[in-house]
Amino acid sequence: MSKDPNAIRLHIPGPVEISPGTYEAMTTAMIGHRSKDFVSLYEEIHPHLQAIMGTEQPVFLSTSSAWGIMEGALRNLVAKKVLCCCSGAFSDKWVDVARRCGKDAEALQYEWGTPINPADVDAKLATGEFDTVTFIHNETSTGVLNPLKEVAEVVRKYDDVLLVTDTVSSFSVVPIEFDKLGVDVLLTGSQKALALPPGLAIFSASERAMERSAKLDDRGYYFDFHEFKKNWEKFMTPSTPCISTIFGLRHQLLTIAEEGLENRFARHEKLNDIAKAWVVDNGFEFLAPEGFRSKSLTCVKNNKDINVAKLQTILRDDHKLALDGGYGKIKGKTFRISNMGDETEETLGNLLAALDDGLAKL
Ligand SMILES: *Cc1c(COP(=O)(O)O)cnc(C)c1O
Repeated sequence: MSKDPNAIRLHIPGPVEISPGTYEAMTTAMIGHRSKDFVSLYEEIHPHLQAIMGTEQPVFLSTSSAWGIMEGALRNLVAKKVLCCCSGAFSDKWVDVARRCGKDAEALQYEWGTPINPADVDAKLATGEFDTVTFIHNETSTGVLNPLKEVAEVVRKYDDVLLVTDTVSSFSVVPIEFDKLGVDVLLTGSQKALALPPGLAIFSASERAMERSAKLDDRGYYFDFHEFKKNWEKFMTPSTPCISTIFGLRHQLLTIAEEGLENRFARHEKLNDIAKAWVVDNGFEFLAPEGFRSKSLTCVKNNKDINVAKLQTILRDDHKLALDGGYGKIKGKTFRISNMGDETEETLGNLLAALDDGLAKL
C-alpha cells in the first residue's frame, strides 16, 4: 500500500505489494556502507536470514536481482557441465544463461507445469558428465512446488556434484533446510516472497561450493563468492549495497520474527487454500498436479477459455488491482493468484471478490 491514492494494488506474483511499514523503514536516513552503522545493520539481520534459510553458513547480500546470483552461481561453480532442471519460464531461462556464460549445459526438460522427477536427475548424474545442477524450488511461472528434499537426496549421492537452488518465491513461505538438505547454493530475491522492492538478492554457499569456486579463475568480480565471503567476515558487502532496501529487509525480518516463522508458513497455507477453493468453486483447474502445487501462488488453468486480458482490465479499472495474466508462452492460457508476502484473509478476500465481479462482467 503506497501513499498514492491512485496506486494499483499488486496481486501479481512479483513484485508483490509492499506494506506501509516497509516503505516507512526504507526512508531511514542513509548511512555509509563502510560505517559501524552498516556493520550493525548486517549483524542484526544475519541470524534472521540464517533462520529462514535453515543454515549456520554465512548469508550474503547481493545488490542485484536474483538473476545476478543465478548467473553468478554458474560462474562460480560450473567447471565441467551443468544439468538444468527445466519446467517453466525461469528454469528454462537458466540453461540459456549458462550457455551465454560459456558453460557446457544440458536441459532436463519437462512440459511447463510438470514437477521435476528426482529419478530423472539421478539417471542424468549417473552418467558422470555433470558437476552442477540448477533447480527451482517454486517455479513461479507455473505454480509448481518442486520436490527439493528428494532432489537434494539424489544430488548428495554424488560427491562432486553441487546443487544450486532458487527459492525466490518459496523463501519464508515453506520451511527450507539448507544445511540439513546439503544444498550448495541457496538464493532468493527481494520482490517476491519477502515483499520488498526489487534489487536485492540473498544467498548462501556451502563449504563445498566455496572450495569449487576457489578453483575457477573466470568468476569475475561482481558475483565472486569469495569477495562476498571476505567482506562478510567484517559484515560488509563487496560494493555499495542498496542500503534502503536492506532497511526494508530489516523491517520485514522483524515483522516475520514477530509473526513467527511457523505462523507465517501457516498463514500462507491458509490463504493458498482459500485461493484454491475459489478456483474449484468457479469451475477452473490447476496447471500443477495435486501434491506439487505452490503455497505462494496459484496458477489457474484457463479451461473455461475466458478472456484473461479483459479480466485484467476490469480488475485494474474497476478495482485498482493488478492481476497476472499468465507468463510467457502460457499467457492467456493461465492466470495467477499470488498470496505471497504480507497478504491477509482480508486482502485476498478483496481480490477474490473483484475476480467474481470481473467474471460476471466478461
Ligand atoms: C522472479 C523469479 C526469478 C527472477 O528474479 P529477478 O528478480 O527478475 O532476477 C527467478 N526465479 C524465480 C523462481 C522467480 O520467481
